[in-house]
Amino acid sequence: PGLRIVVVGAVAAGTSAAAKARRNTEAARITVYERDLDISYSGCGLPYFVGGEVERVDQLTPRDAAWFAERYGVEVRTGHEVVAVDAAARTVTVRDLATGRMFEDGYDELVLATGVRPVTPSIPGVDSPGVFPVRAPSHARAIDTWITERDARRALIIGAGYIGLEMAEQLTLRGLKVTVVEAAGHAMPRMDPDMSARVDAELRKHGVDLRLSTTVTEIRGDHDGVTGADLLGPDGATEHVATDLVIASVGVRPNTELARQAGAELGPTGAVAVDRRQRTTVDHVWAVGDVSESFHAITRDPVWVPLGSTANKTGRIAGDAMTGGTLEHRGILGTSVVRVFDLGVAQTGLTEQQARTAGYDVEVLHNIKPDRPEYLGGRPLVIKAVADRASGRLLGAQAIGASGADKRIDILATAITFGADVADLFHLDLAYSPTYATTKDPVHYTGMALA
Ligand code: FAD
Repeated sequence: PGLRIVVVGAVAAGTSAAAKARRNTEAARITVYERDLDISYSGCGLPYFVGGEVERVDQLTPRDAAWFAERYGVEVRTGHEVVAVDAAARTVTVRDLATGRMFEDGYDELVLATGVRPVTPSIPGVDSPGVFPVRAPSHARAIDTWITERDARRALIIGAGYIGLEMAEQLTLRGLKVTVVEAAGHAMPRMDPDMSARVDAELRKHGVDLRLSTTVTEIRGDHDGVTGADLLGPDGATEHVATDLVIASVGVRPNTELARQAGAELGPTGAVAVDRRQRTTVDHVWAVGDVSESFHAITRDPVWVPLGSTANKTGRIAGDAMTGGTLEHRGILGTSVVRVFDLGVAQTGLTEQQARTAGYDVEVLHNIKPDRPEYLGGRPLVIKAVADRASGRLLGAQAIGASGADKRIDILATAITFGADVADLFHLDLAYSPTYATTKDPVHYTGMALA
């Protein structure tokens, strides 16, 4: 019947594309191929399973293939890897990983939602048992089992981006002694250093041994698994740190093999170039989610910030566009939030450094205000906003605080999306009750800073 849609990848973006295509049309046959056995999972929840805050890993994978079949009439074939694309013939070659059988399938529209893979740092010993990436439920299960079976007491985390820090928090709360090794000068290197210094302090306050401007030169182990790592510190000093497991969280790279094979161009970021409807440069081939490039809502430059929020959106846009809809991608601000022990750490838009690099004459606005009155438990919330000095236009913001950082960053992201300038913030009609905010909200104070 009608349109034949094939999707590769069944986590966030692929399932969103399939579901939206189905909502738009009954007259399509939709198949999703996924090489893993877990589908539609919340990768974002994995650290909380390892830490025990989420009891069972299957709580993060509530939807299986049967659910998609029943709810959407979408066939999800797990354990099936797409190994080749012939864009001229409009076919894919699929391998059934359980049997090794290969077969071809034809498509009218092909959606590549192949995501990313974790970067394996090129460190001697990185292949030792006990070194784990964190990407899929299988990794989280493996980490959990390793800790339980060996009664692991110490963990070493390479990389202090948000995933490394979520793991640092969760492993600490599970009772392990955690060392975090970061090559940059601060944790959360995507933020401005004056803000991320607060994250460093929070980690140390909770007993994390944070090693900045430090690299791991070798992972050591015996037949049984890792035993430690050699570090090279800022002063050139070397040190050996004993550990029972290593988490490698040094970033991810897009799985672009199929896209390249189909003849699709990659963008300057190395992810697959797409237009606003998520079309690649090859007819009838779409790319969505982490494998695809995005563009910055302010600078309009190509950017690649692989996040679940964007993956869901871009999947839906492609699913809509290929079934006659009009949705178009409007760009991203890279808005994100992460909990690091007692702090919410959030950012949106350009950092001060990025704004300067983009050529703006930058105005920086700082304020530290309680998120609520102190009589109801308000605690300081630090907001750093970045604006264009000439126009006053808001370019970005970062917020860190014990509570309320998430809400303020979303207000600021919304304001930036609609082109607000700093003064506009004061005029926002925001909800007030002392249980949630102050009469003049911290966002209002940011708006008053230039007055
Ligand atoms: P992926 O999730 O990478 O899925 C791609 C799928 O395609 C994979 O299952 C893969 O097996 C499959 N595949 C690839 N190639 C083939 C092939 N040839 N044949 C068949 N199948 C194939 N994002 C946020 O916004 N907020 C967060 O708080 C957050 N926290 C995170 C925490 C962790 C620990 C992790 C790992 C990620 C987090 N993310 C977060 C990111 C978010 O999980 C990803 O952005 C999202 O999963 C991307 O979805 P995707 O569908 O594009 O790609």
